[in-house]
Amino acid sequence: MGAGPNGLAAAVTLARAGVPVRVLERAATIGGGARTAQDTLPGYLHDVCSAVHPSAYASEFFTRFGLRQRIPFVDPDVAYAHGLDADRVVLAWRDVARTADGLGPDGPAWRTLFAPFVDSPALTRGLLSDSPLRPPLRPLGLARVGLRVLDQGTELWNRRWQTEEAPALLTGVLAHPIQPMPGLGTAAAGLVLAAMAHVDGWPIPVGGSQAIVEALASDARAHGAEIVTGHDVRSLEELSDARAVVLDTSPRALLAIAGDRVPDRYARRLRRYRYGDGAAKVDYALSGPVPWADPDLALAGTVHLGGPRSQMAAAEAAVARGRHPGKPYVIASQPTTFDPSRAPAGRHVLWAYTHVPAGSTVDPTEGVTRRIEEFAPGFREVVLSSTARSASDLERYNPNYVGGDIAVGNVQARQILARPVLSLDPWRTPVDGLYLCSSATPPGPGVHGICGWRAALSVLRHEYGITAPPDLSP
Ligand SMILES: Cc1cc2nc3c(=O)[nH]c(=O)nc-3n(C[C@H](O)[C@H](O)[C@H](O)COP(=O)(O)OP(=O)(O)OC[C@H]3O[C@@H](n4cnc5c(N)ncnc54)[C@H](O)[C@@H]3O)c2cc1C
Repeated sequence: MGAGPNGLAAAVTLARAGVPVRVLERAATIGGGARTAQDTLPGYLHDVCSAVHPSAYASEFFTRFGLRQRIPFVDPDVAYAHGLDADRVVLAWRDVARTADGLGPDGPAWRTLFAPFVDSPALTRGLLSDSPLRPPLRPLGLARVGLRVLDQGTELWNRRWQTEEAPALLTGVLAHPIQPMPGLGTAAAGLVLAAMAHVDGWPIPVGGSQAIVEALASDARAHGAEIVTGHDVRSLEELSDARAVVLDTSPRALLAIAGDRVPDRYARRLRRYRYGDGAAKVDYALSGPVPWADPDLALAGTVHLGGPRSQMAAAEAAVARGRHPGKPYVIASQPTTFDPSRAPAGRHVLWAYTHVPAGSTVDPTEGVTRRIEEFAPGFREVVLSSTARSASDLERYNPNYVGGDIAVGNVQARQILARPVLSLDPWRTPVDGLYLCSSATPPGPGVHGICGWRAALSVLRHEYGITAPPDLSP
């Protein structure tokens, strides 16, 4: 149930194992958080949710599926850039040494911070998988990572740095999980994400994120799966003919759909599951590229506009206190720099979002536009059209994003481990034949398909006695 990247990854895995599969999706189109649509003007293709895909290369599921052989990606040399102010910009190149060279006296500290990840790509990719403790991950490598999480996840986090630039560059990534900083959860998730930039890069699919889900759907269909859109599942009773049901939903929706079939103890644990603050998004159609004051920002696939580290920490703390920050942290990407197919010749699209309190109904257009103007004077003049979604609009768009929480459950240290509950098989619920495969299960948010793949492997094991993972290759 649900044709997001995880629901479709589950469908592919089950269909490849020879199981008859029907996918029911409430929206009119497939894709969940990986849809691409003409949301502003005809001919301008916008990624409605996800846009940049560090896990497309790192995910074990996508490696087995051969995603890179199935659809083209572009790989910006500068994975992400950070704006401290209009004239101060720092770049995270895919090459860690080149990045360090640009960080002045903090270059060596940057290199040391990322050494365990860069020295051992398998460790980095493994950390993004569902079971970071399994071989070939060595205890020494994990210990080195753990020390770095403590270093950047506690009040000691400024000790390593001498300048404002390097910690700002890093904090732009640590801020992704929408949590107060410093925190162990933001450090763990953020460091792995930042390390991916130096290991596999932060790739962007040609044509938009929809290409990823179309590849999944077409493989599932080729192996016999049926995909039905426009079917909003309200109750398990509707699915009584199914041998197993796999939900690509929030734990809250699981409770509503399974009703009194959920044992009390499990229901209590799911009710304790905590959702985070929200995102609010603006998509722009542009007559030309963003006129960045510092042209280096145009080199990056992803741009973080957040000022120095202290400004981002203050912005995220304000969000956690229920306020809209005066200097919001904005994540932006202009994919048309690398993939001109998404807009008419010479024109561009810009994807941007900011963090807001859970359930916010505030239209983010003015706040995000003003922030971009600070770094790109004249930006308003290139805007042809824009479409905004507040946090509550995002929840209406996709009920998985409870209150606009795009991670479907906060990414604090406890909920990185207990997702949605602490279990060796968190995808399997105590309700007979009922499984959860959304990003409320390990390894959490992102377009990697691992939650769906692992849920499907659990279905195969428990419902069909199949223990060998099916071949997923093209
Ligand atoms: C604004 C935004 C930006 C993001 N940026 C990135 C990014 O750049 N890179 C990245 O990797 N990730 C990003 N993400 C996160 C990423 O999109 C999600 O982690 C990912 O899509 C989760 O996949 P999923 O399959 O678990 O759930 P979803 O993609 O949410 O899919 C769930 C599907 O289930 C359907 N559904 C829900 N309830 C029902 C029901 N009752 N009946 C039938 N169908 C139902 C929904 O309609 C939806 O299609 C972003 C998310 C948002 C919102």
